[in-house]
Amino acid sequence: MAIKSAPTANIFDSAVLEDVVCGNLRITPEQALSLYHDMPLPELGRWADQRCRALHGEHLRTYIVDRNINYTNVCTAKCTFCAFRRDGHEDDAYTLTYDALLQKVQEIVDIGGTQILMQGGMNPELPLEWYTELLSQLREKFPQVHVHAFSPPEIIEFVHFFDTPGDTLEEQVRWVLIQLQDAGLQSIPGGGGEIFAPAVREKIGLGKCNAEVWLTVMRVAHELGMNTSATMMFGHIEGIADRIHHFDLVRTWQDKSIADFGLHGGGRYNAFISWPFQPDNSPLGRVKGWDWSESNPFPGDVVAKLDGSGTKSDHPEFGRRLRLAGSSSYLRTQALSRLFLDNIYSIGSSWVTMGPAIGQTALFYGANDLGSVMLEENVVSAAGTTWCLDEAKLCRMIRGAGFIPAKRDNQYGLLEIHNDENSPDKLITDWSIFEKERLISHTQDCATVTLTLND
Ligand code: SF4
Repeated sequence: MAIKSAPTANIFDSAVLEDVVCGNLRITPEQALSLYHDMPLPELGRWADQRCRALHGEHLRTYIVDRNINYTNVCTAKCTFCAFRRDGHEDDAYTLTYDALLQKVQEIVDIGGTQILMQGGMNPELPLEWYTELLSQLREKFPQVHVHAFSPPEIIEFVHFFDTPGDTLEEQVRWVLIQLQDAGLQSIPGGGGEIFAPAVREKIGLGKCNAEVWLTVMRVAHELGMNTSATMMFGHIEGIADRIHHFDLVRTWQDKSIADFGLHGGGRYNAFISWPFQPDNSPLGRVKGWDWSESNPFPGDVVAKLDGSGTKSDHPEFGRRLRLAGSSSYLRTQALSRLFLDNIYSIGSSWVTMGPAIGQTALFYGANDLGSVMLEENVVSAAGTTWCLDEAKLCRMIRGAGFIPAKRDNQYGLLEIHNDENSPDKLITDWSIFEKERLISHTQDCATVTLTLND
């Protein structure tokens, strides 16, 4: 049954928000925009936390042990926010060999990993057989490892690169996904979501698929029974209304997938993760910031419309000014995503970009999941930010926030509940040794700094 909305209700009324928390009332985009701008952050966080507790209970907060493998950095797209991509002829362009890839999987299996998240650039040199052979080898050598791989922009380039049969894009996507699924692909990550609004996407995602195509790939994946995640990268040239338009498309297409495929073994978006743009080393990062003391509104906010219809001609400075997003903007956006996305099970904290302290705080702003341990990461680290945490430290973060850490699988099934003395964090008797060594590494300009976790 569809959740009702009440467009004329006062969304600041506690009784109305209680209904949102219980899942009986759906926030409209207009109400979401009002909440973003006018509700104090602690209050917004409190409502998001209540919604999170209604969905996930009071006790457990989760994480997964997986490995992010970026199999190639060669890419035909030229996203302006990307510091990772290379043209094929550049000295530091790479494509991992099967041996190197399998070695990385072995390393995560050795520490109890259950999944690999594999994404790369859109490399025109790799034929379909390269992917299907890789998936087959992964399935044969690591049948216990869930393969979560190839975001929608990659799938669309596969359609273009592989001379794919089919009369429509949807048929072509279906054909590609079936080949990959038959070879061992199990679910699709939500990379390449960025911001869906066309005016923004056309500026920052040069050569990347548009929102409708992105959403179509996910819909076909759902039809084929694969779960997916959805993502949003914000804090660049967009307006706040663009973020809410992005939420709205995810919620609408999730409704459709559930209605059309839910009773027939279909998949769905099972998680939403958002993070702020990381500016270092990318062309977009060189764009001028915005002087917030000016009384003029930020160009992106002038252009942005809740229905995504804004056009770049609506402001001469659109795309030429960066807004960036700090901790409060991140927490506000994440909290709103929890309240708005009533049909998405999990909201992930982005400690990889925000650092462990805000990542931990995010557990009180609607996030129920800390995502993965991080052995390596090549995409946001190319843009200047890398935080590395192992399982014990993730558990310590969750326990420090007052919850019991639980290791999960890709489908959010619980694998281990760490409520005894054998928990990874409890086995460490002296955390001070990590301060002497390296508790958390944050590399920026090749420097490494040592930080401590919040208790
Ligand atoms: S973000 Fe992805 S698709 Fe865009 S240029 Fe970078 S590697 Fe290519």
